[in-house]
Amino acid sequence: MNSSAWEKLNKILKLEQSKGHRDEAVIGGLDKFVELWQSEVRAETQAEAGVVAEAWITEITASLANYADKTEHERAEAVDRVLSQLDQIGLSAQRAPIQPQAVRPEAPTAQAPSPSPPRPRPAAGLDAPVESLPGISSGFSARLRKLGIATVADFLYHLPHRYDDYRTLKPISRLEYGQETTIIGTIWETKTRPTRGGGTIVSSIIADASGTIEAVWFNQPYLARQLRAGMQIVLSGKVDEHLGRLTLSAPAWEPLERDLIHTGRLVPIYPLTEGITSRWLRRLMKRVLDYWAPRLTDHLPQTVRQRAGLMDLSTAISQIHFPDSQETADQARRRLSFDEFLMIQLGMLRQRQQWQSEPGMPLPRDQALLEAFLASLPFALTVAQQRSLEQILNDMIQNCPMSRMLQGDVGSGKTVVAAAAILMAIAAGKQAGLMAPTEILAEQHYHSIAHLLENAQDWGLNRPVSVVLLTGSVGRRERQEVYAAIASGEADVVIGTHALIQQGLDFHDLALVIVDEQHRFGVVQRATLRGKGASPHMLVMSATPIPRSLALTVYGDLDISIIDELPPGRQPIQTRWLLPRERERAYAFIHSQIAAGHQAFILYPLIEETEKVDAKAATEEYERLQQTIFETKRLGLLHGKMKASDKEEVMTQFRQGELDILVSTSVVEVGIDVPNATVMLVEGADRFGLAQLHQFRGRVGRSEHKSYCLLVSDATSPDQPQTKATWERLKAIEETQDGFVLAEKDLELRGPGDFLGIRQSGLPELRLASLSNVQVLEQARSEAQLMFSSDPTLSQPEHRLLAEKVTLFWQSKGELS
Ligand code: ADP
Ligand code: MG
Repeated sequence: MNSSAWEKLNKILKLEQSKGHRDEAVIGGLDKFVELWQSEVRAETQAEAGVVAEAWITEITASLANYADKTEHERAEAVDRVLSQLDQIGLSAQRAPIQPQAVRPEAPTAQAPSPSPPRPRPAAGLDAPVESLPGISSGFSARLRKLGIATVADFLYHLPHRYDDYRTLKPISRLEYGQETTIIGTIWETKTRPTRGGGTIVSSIIADASGTIEAVWFNQPYLARQLRAGMQIVLSGKVDEHLGRLTLSAPAWEPLERDLIHTGRLVPIYPLTEGITSRWLRRLMKRVLDYWAPRLTDHLPQTVRQRAGLMDLSTAISQIHFPDSQETADQARRRLSFDEFLMIQLGMLRQRQQWQSEPGMPLPRDQALLEAFLASLPFALTVAQQRSLEQILNDMIQNCPMSRMLQGDVGSGKTVVAAAAILMAIAAGKQAGLMAPTEILAEQHYHSIAHLLENAQDWGLNRPVSVVLLTGSVGRRERQEVYAAIASGEADVVIGTHALIQQGLDFHDLALVIVDEQHRFGVVQRATLRGKGASPHMLVMSATPIPRSLALTVYGDLDISIIDELPPGRQPIQTRWLLPRERERAYAFIHSQIAAGHQAFILYPLIEETEKVDAKAATEEYERLQQTIFETKRLGLLHGKMKASDKEEVMTQFRQGELDILVSTSVVEVGIDVPNATVMLVEGADRFGLAQLHQFRGRVGRSEHKSYCLLVSDATSPDQPQTKATWERLKAIEETQDGFVLAEKDLELRGPGDFLGIRQSGLPELRLASLSNVQVLEQARSEAQLMFSSDPTLSQPEHRLLAEKVTLFWQSKGELS
């Protein structure tokens, strides 16, 4: 086909593509051209590649059929498809005439090809780009990329987010208005008529043994030629009513003889993007699956699969796309989320092992100094604080770097524990660094740590402790001085924001790094901070309680200490859920608290929107409140779009009691400490998980004054069934103050999604795990541990594939080397 009809078609289609699919590439239109082309190409290829060529010709003509009637989008789709088919044949590269064997050597039925599309070239593996699949040209691959699909494997893992159930096959006479249904029938006739608005309606009368029904489609005139009278057809859709008669309005349909993919089954519904239709995606998915699913090699050893009762990979991948039943879909989901949890866990174990293989810097425990420090505190440590501190100090004396997470609810007293650890580092003549996510928090830490350690000389330290603050707003001149003090070792403790990990900042001898609110930092940032010392000990702190089962997985690379007890004498924060109509009462209550000399937060944390929209909503509400509700009060506004210095100023005003109410988005920091604030009002509260609400609530109740948390929900009534789960959560948060109890409840009610999000940048994207449940997670964890204990490097032959998969899974994040 050096010159040939094939070449001609290729040229014409490229021209058509470049002209914007206006059917202007050939005089007389493409339909006419294709008709002539068919005979031409048959005449040409008869001799050499007869049967296979015929399959191609059929496929190509079908793709281009009724080109004139197609919409622009459909034309683009068709041209794209055919061009890539031509590409498959090896045409654009000026190769020899069609070699059937080269095209589909793996097909056992090579001599009797059906008009089904060509299969991927065998050379193209799972990691080949999607363009290697038949039917995907560069136009489509760009669109698929928007869906995060770059390779064949990505494509197979582009999972449906739900299924439409079109299994209920019904005789036409039994259809009822409003039902989702599937029918099988014969087309009696198909007609086209114009609509008043200038569009077209194609309508078919479908009949089965029990009756007839009309099906209509809008503005798809080309359907008139596809829906031929006498054709057996399957239709799925919703039963509508028009002029007193039942109709099917724009149902999905397909000819009866095919493997059903759009109708008559659990039909997968995929995330789509512009220029990708569900029909197109499903059809392609089915083709790709038919080829690939049986060829997938399972990375899970059979023994593991058996023990955990899991489907094999081929079945799971097929069933998650085109399930035979809801049960098999569930099993497939379970298998694939098991995979994800296993990857996480194995990666974490590997990471941990790597860290711990580096020699560390043992920091001896100065018992006398420690005791003097503790004696200087106006309170005694709680049992949980003592236990955590012991665990930390015990890590620090080891010759291997500490990697520990200190978890404790807001107000549980993590700072003082951190200060004790810092003191031990200083006593050993080393430096400590503490990184916080915002300037406000950094400054707060700076003040409390400096205060806690200010009398160190009285406790037997040979010099006063020098604490420095390093944030983005430290001026250039001053920064140079601070840098110098850090480099010379004159500064013992450096507290700051991201400024701590700037290039050019060198520590003299950094032995302990502490990261507060660790989830606000990326893995790379934490690693950079570590890198400022020579394998320093690392303590990360989090105020987000997370259920133990999950913590062990998502923080599997860290040891965990938990402060699960609040200092004595804390008053519970009285929490109330309010309906939108009770909002006025909430405002009245805030008025009364301000009258008593206190302050309030009003939070507008609109989660689905962007930060910009959030900021706008908060700004509008701030103006409304100031003008109509709290005219005589002093209101401040805080949102993420403000300049750091403006934020700082508002926070300072609020802290100093110059503002009565702080209106804000969720940027009000977790650790913010304004003891005089006694009311927290949260809008749209039912959209949040318990853990998050508990965080918000923790911003009040920081003094001896009784504090209140008012949660205004959008849900209007406890009786609506769809809000039942919401109300269960409301009750839970009203009744308990314990963040860990709430976290367990959240896990039970909402699944692990929220918590996996907490680790944020530390985890690769999860497709399924967040929708899964704790049993799967625990199963995966125990299997991972079992594997790791017998084969930590996963180098045994039965683990080879799995090892590759783990590496691939983590690669995108660059976390594990
Ligand atoms: P968080 O864990 O949220 O960082 P902080 O360290 O800020 O909590 O502590 C909250 C408050 O509790 C601080 O004012 C701190 O001085 C106080 N505090 C810490 N430990 C105790 C304790 N054992 N008894 C009484 N008060 C304590
Ligand atoms: Mg704190």
